[in-house]
Amino acid sequence: MKTREHNSTLGTLYVVATPIGNLEDITLRALRVFKEVSLILCEDTRHSRVLLSHHGISTKTESYHARSNDAKMKGIAHRLEQGEDVALISDAGTPLVSDPGSPLLSYLKKEFGDDLTIVAIPGPSALTAALSIVPVPSGRFSFIGFVPHKKGRQTAIKAMREAEDSTVCYESSHRIVKLLAELTEWYPEAHVSIARELTKQFEEVLSGSPAELAALLAAKPEKQKGEFVVIVSKK
Ligand code: SAM
Repeated sequence: MKTREHNSTLGTLYVVATPIGNLEDITLRALRVFKEVSLILCEDTRHSRVLLSHHGISTKTESYHARSNDAKMKGIAHRLEQGEDVALISDAGTPLVSDPGSPLLSYLKKEFGDDLTIVAIPGPSALTAALSIVPVPSGRFSFIGFVPHKKGRQTAIKAMREAEDSTVCYESSHRIVKLLAELTEWYPEAHVSIARELTKQFEEVLSGSPAELAALLAAKPEKQKGEFVVIVSKK
């Protein structure tokens, strides 16, 4: 960590949650921060332009994503050092929750230590949206982010069976059918809820055993589309 002499001039980094589908799901504070900062770091600037334009925000944007390198982080650190306030957003929901941001925050913490103020502007996350409408037994859960695609996938699913608490995970439309087939094989007695397309037109929660849900999605392929939060609980 570097020692800084004039830390009072450091800008603030705001980590701002954005909608997971419905453009109205943005806080008043988030909109104010977007207007006040010098720069909004977006996972994908074109994607976020839709949200920002919808709310009349014309603040400069730049990309910061999972493949951003040290030079990019150095540039962001330089802006903060110049006293500029910066906001970080991802394509949807809360940054750093299965989304880019963690390496940047670690880098900036290393650079500035506690001199840098990082402020959370809370709001939507698919995780909390799902948990707010799908009760889990005793209110306890483990969140594992995305189920590993290949290596570790079987271990992750078997761990759900061993776990005392419910397991919450994200899954893509490419793998939701596969996940249900794997649960049918490795954890057939599970109680599974799928929160699909939250806050969007075809929002729904489907619940049942893995085999029941696999049969439902096979019969209605339109339900295989979209975005999913999967909650796996003991019966
Ligand atoms: N940071 C985001 C958050 O706080 O929710 C999550 C980003 S992660 C890259 C994207 C995954 O979140 C999707 O593949 C899906 O599993 C889940 N997700 C995002 N939006 C969703 C929605 N509207 N309904 C259900 N799941 C959603």
